Amino acid sequence: MGCVFCDIIQKKIPADIIFEDDLTVCFKDANPVVPFHVLFIPKEHISSALGINFQNSKIVGRIFENISKIIEQYCPNGFRVVSNCGSDAIQSVMHLHFHILGGQKLRWPPC
Ligand code: 5GP
Ligand code: ZN
Repeated sequence: MGCVFCDIIQKKIPADIIFEDDLTVCFKDANPVVPFHVLFIPKEHISSALGINFQNSKIVGRIFENISKIIEQYCPNGFRVVSNCGSDAIQSVMHLHFHILGGQKLRWPPC
């Protein structure tokens, strides 16, 4: 079954990539809901947060290290990290991803 985020990683479909390293890619969300809205994904296909395990969990650490590297220039006043998982959370792409939301004052709670 095809995966749109694997296609972005393999450069089969275009995306506005703002950061990439050996394990991760960060690109602008196609339908931003706030002024700064990017997605951080692992290059390894992991279906959701439920697919994180002892063998692959270092990827999550790498993603958060990379968030720290890039975020100051885009969201100096703060940001939110969201990972939707499963149908109640309306996960629409079954490849683990972390939304980085910022560029404005965010409301809480989100639901
Ligand atoms: P989810 O609802 O699964 O948490 O979020 C998936 C996100 O991926 C959505 O915000 C959606 O706009 C974004 N998205 C889906 N397809 C594409 C695509 O082909 N390119 C980009 N840049 N974003 C996409
Ligand atoms: Zn994938």
